[in-house]
Amino acid sequence: MSLVVDLNRCQGFAQCAFLVPDVFALHGDEALLFSPRFDEAQRDRVEQAAAACPVQAILVDFSDGPTKGAEPHVG
Ligand code: SF4
Repeated sequence: MSLVVDLNRCQGFAQCAFLVPDVFALHGDEALLFSPRFDEAQRDRVEQAAAACPVQAILVDFSDGPTKGAEPHVG
């Protein structure tokens, strides 16, 4: 599972860092640091953080590894 934060949208409100401090951290007043990979155990809280972000800057991919069935068809 992985996530990306759109730092062009992020306003540094820190809701995410408050909800999942293991994954998100605010550095100084503005710079958000985040861990792009997270565990199943953090899934619920990451989901809450994405929902709580006032500018919807957190994009989460709950899939594990490459999508099955996405292999190209040959022939
Ligand atoms: S909650 Fe959203 S706006 Fe606030 S720091 Fe996290 S990603 Fe940025």
